[in-house]
Amino acid sequence: MMQVRAVPEPEAAKPRHAAAAQIKKLAEEAAHCERCPLYRKATQTVFGEGPIGALIMLVGEQPGDQEDRAGRPFVGPAGRMLDAALAQVGLDRGATYVTNAVKHFKYEQRGKRRLHKHPNRGEVQACRWWLDREFALVRPKLVVALGAVAAHAILNRPIVLARTRGRILALPDGRSVVATMHPSAILRMPDETARRQAFGNFVSDLKQAVKIAKSRP
Ligand code: SF4
Repeated sequence: MMQVRAVPEPEAAKPRHAAAAQIKKLAEEAAHCERCPLYRKATQTVFGEGPIGALIMLVGEQPGDQEDRAGRPFVGPAGRMLDAALAQVGLDRGATYVTNAVKHFKYEQRGKRRLHKHPNRGEVQACRWWLDREFALVRPKLVVALGAVAAHAILNRPIVLARTRGRILALPDGRSVVATMHPSAILRMPDETARRQAFGNFVSDLKQAVKIAKSRP
């Protein structure tokens, strides 16, 4: 019988495979995280997804109702809006790493509905432990903060989104961040005209982010 030899792995691919294995292990560890109280009411941890060395890392605030049930980030209405915006930018979601600043869903029960509640500073700080490890392993060309809470979590200072969206913001370690709106905020807008305009701005910020990321070595 003919023997099939394993094809040796290219040297350049080895660190990437090692980082992918480490992030898988990290996600398994995060599934048991009790660093803050949010794990108690949520269904499960929703960890990030995407390739090592992603062109951009998209960081939202926290999982929503559907993400909490599915255990995957950005699979609900906000995720569909993100996908629509990425399609307009011409970027496949598979080329991005998608995650949240806080990995458990925080909500308030109102009858049968679970209403989103913003995480507090302590919860954001506690979860930063996981986000920092995702940054270190994924090593994206650019980080994109989706919404003011995510931007605050990443930059460790509050920002006024209306003034800073689409601009490059530097982190002390030399990494760059671009902040834009969270797609949920667009969905919550009361009228169609405002929603359409905000979506156009969102697409334009993402285009700018992709341009910056592609210019990085
Ligand atoms: S929100 Fe983050 S820090 Fe808090 S329990 Fe969940 S994974 Fe841990």
